[in-house]
Amino acid sequence: MSSLNKNQSIGIDIGGTNISIGAVDKFGGIIEQWSLKMKDCPTIEIFQNKIEECIGDYVRKHKAEILGIGVGAPNGNFYSGTIDFAPNLPWKGQIPLSFILSKQFDRRVVLTNDANAAAIGEMIYGAAKGMKDFVMITLGTGVGSGFVANGELIYGHDGFAGELGHTTAIRDGRPCNCGKKGCLETYTSATGIVRTVHEFLARDNSPSSLRDIETITSKDIHNAALKGDALALEIFDYTGKILGQSLADAVAITSPKAFILFGGLAGAKEFIFEPTIRHMEANLLQIWKGKIRVIPSELKESDAAVLGASALAWER
Ligand SMILES: [Zn+2]
Repeated sequence: MSSLNKNQSIGIDIGGTNISIGAVDKFGGIIEQWSLKMKDCPTIEIFQNKIEECIGDYVRKHKAEILGIGVGAPNGNFYSGTIDFAPNLPWKGQIPLSFILSKQFDRRVVLTNDANAAAIGEMIYGAAKGMKDFVMITLGTGVGSGFVANGELIYGHDGFAGELGHTTAIRDGRPCNCGKKGCLETYTSATGIVRTVHEFLARDNSPSSLRDIETITSKDIHNAALKGDALALEIFDYTGKILGQSLADAVAITSPKAFILFGGLAGAKEFIFEPTIRHMEANLLQIWKGKIRVIPSELKESDAAVLGASALAWER
C-alpha cells in the first residue's frame, strides 16, 4: 500500500448552504474533495446516502486508510457529538451525528461547531499559525465564532462556547432565526447585509444600482460598492459599525491578538474591513487601542473548516 493511502482523515464542514467534505493527509494536504448542497440533503438519511457515495466509494476505490472523521457543524456540540437545534439547518431537533457517522463508517468521529473547526484550521494551517489568542469569525449564512485563548479552543461547560453571532448587537432589533431579537447575525451575515439593503432601499428613493437587482446577494453589494454606489458604501459602513462594536466587546472578554474574518462577507475585503476596524478602534478601551488586528483568513474558503475538522480527528 502506498503512503498516500495511510494516515488520512476525513473533514466534513456542514453549513446552511453547502456541505464540504475532504480526505486530508497529516500535512493538511487535501487529497480528494467533494461538495454537496444542503438543499439536496433535507433529511439525515439522505445526507448519509450522499456521503456514502463520496467517502465510501473513495475508501473502496483507493483502499484508503481513514483514521478518523472530524465534523464542523452549526450548533455542533464537542462533548455530546450532537447537532443541537441548529436554526439554519433543515435537520431539526437534536441530531446524534457523531454516533450516526461512527456506526456508518466504523471510525471514530469528533464533532464541533463549524466556526471552531475553522479556527483550528486557521491555527494549524492559516493566518493564526503561532497565535495563542485569537477569534475566528465566520460571516456566512449566519455568523459563527471560535475563541482560542491561551492556545486552546474554548468549549465552555457544555460544549457550546463562542456564539458571538447570537449576542445582542441591537436591543429589540431584527428577529433572528434563533428566536431572539437583534442578534449580530441578523446584521453582519451575508443574509443580514441583504436585509439591510432592503431596509435602506425602502427608506427613501435615493438612486442606487441595487434597485435594479431582483434577488440581491452580498456579492451584488460588493460589486455596487466597487462602482462607487453611495448606498452600497453606506451599507458597508453600517454593517462594519455593528460588527466593529461587537468585536470591541469581545476584546474586553478574551483580549485576542487578532480577529480572523472568514466567509462570504469577508470577500468584500476593504469595504468591510475598513469600517469594522475603524468602529472597533472607536469602541476599544485605551489599553487595547492599536493592538488588535482584524485580518482575513489565509485559507481558501472551502478549505478552512474541512482542514480544521480533519485536524480534530488527529488531535484526539
Ligand atoms: Zn440569534
